[in-house]
Amino acid sequence: MLHLHNSYTRQKEQFEPIVPGYAGLYVCGPTVSGESHLGHARPYITFDVVNRYLTYLGYKVRYVRNITDAGHFEEEGRVAEDKVSTKAQLEKMEPMELVHKYTNLFHWGMRLFNCVDPSIEPTATGHIIEQINMIETIMAKGYAYEVNGSVYFDVKKYADEFANTPNPYGKLSGRILEDQLETTRELDGQDEKRNKADFALWKNAPPQHIMRWKSPWGEGFPGWHIECSAMSSKYLGETFDIHGGGMDLQFPHHESEIAQSTIAHGHAPVRYWMHNNMITINGKKMGKSYNNVIKLTELFSGNHPLLEQPYHPMVVRFYILQTHYRSTLDFSNEALQASERAFRRLWDAYEILNKLQHPANETAGDAALDKQVVEWCHQCTEFMNDDFNTAKVIANLFELAPVINGIKGGQIKADALSSGTFILLKNTYKDFLEDILGMKALQVEQSNKLDTVLSLLIEIRGDAKKRKDFATSDQIRNKLAETGVLLKDEKDGTVSYTIE
Ligand code: ZN
Repeated sequence: MLHLHNSYTRQKEQFEPIVPGYAGLYVCGPTVSGESHLGHARPYITFDVVNRYLTYLGYKVRYVRNITDAGHFEEEGRVAEDKVSTKAQLEKMEPMELVHKYTNLFHWGMRLFNCVDPSIEPTATGHIIEQINMIETIMAKGYAYEVNGSVYFDVKKYADEFANTPNPYGKLSGRILEDQLETTRELDGQDEKRNKADFALWKNAPPQHIMRWKSPWGEGFPGWHIECSAMSSKYLGETFDIHGGGMDLQFPHHESEIAQSTIAHGHAPVRYWMHNNMITINGKKMGKSYNNVIKLTELFSGNHPLLEQPYHPMVVRFYILQTHYRSTLDFSNEALQASERAFRRLWDAYEILNKLQHPANETAGDAALDKQVVEWCHQCTEFMNDDFNTAKVIANLFELAPVINGIKGGQIKADALSSGTFILLKNTYKDFLEDILGMKALQVEQSNKLDTVLSLLIEIRGDAKKRKDFATSDQIRNKLAETGVLLKDEKDGTVSYTIE
């Protein structure tokens, strides 16, 4: 029985999907006006594991993660702006050129982190009509109003009328409206709003604004919150199972999603809200003002003043999963280096386990050890069922590693475990380390790269031979031979042999 912590009720609840056997998962995706950074890695890796585990449990998962390629403007403490438009002007690029560049970079990062692709990855610009339709519904129900071509959600009206319902305003984020009315600073469009807490569903586009669409209220662009409500309901239904994201999105983003969807559809949009905690760097919040934002390209190359070395994406992934997703996670070089050593130990044990042969005895030679191994293995499922506790799963895999190493080294007899327990041990490592935690070997990519380089050299040598440039072809063959790679010309082409 899977239980998860619902941020909306602040309780651990048993997961009961709306349609038995199916699970709908929506996760707020990246705003592709810039490069993804370390802080983005945590939600995508966290919810990748949620997706993988639901799949492992046998659910047919529809995982929707959007791409925000228009209209993301901050409403708290900053002047409202369309990030994509502003950045496009800054980089002298077409907005779609910019969006394409950063979407590709994001996908590259996700692949390196071994994140499974979502089932659907809808874009905000591809769903303008759905967003306009939803705004019209909210207006028709009397909870949004138009001023000078912009449309705002009437937060005060919602807060007043839903105060004594199961979905009062501020329930998710714990914020009360009075606080916001007092603390919200002077913002763009503030004088247009009935109340400071109201948020934009649609913004009128000033003449210099590049990204603009026709709407019943004139040319403009959508607000940020409406995009997730429009796309999640389109692909997962008006009420769906799990909505995930970082804790920093609870307010105003998710609070606004709840309010506008509740009005548009007449009921709350989500059964279980899940939020991952934030990453801090050397104890500090990550932010431009601290000069400690580490982009993924910098993280993998080591090219950042705070980094002592490059970090392999699998090491970063392992490090993130070594802590429960609702706990804070502090990034430091020491912690990452410790994770790298730990992951290597664990993966080495896994590779040894894969090569071990079992003598096929039915009963265990060491009943106590056998019982302990069975318990450690079974606990992995219990831990995942207890709000996706990857930290405890990893701890148990570490408990099992000395057993594997002991069998290999002869300190533990080969027949200590029964064949059933031995198979359970193998399956546990495969299922949890590879399939659920999504880990893979550190060396794989290096060897793939070398294969590519080698085939390129063979191709260049082939061309040289055709040109009768034997000096070059011999040079390639001889230099490779010196490093232990032998090339042999056969009928169908050149093959390579490696001498270990
Ligand atoms: Zn969102």
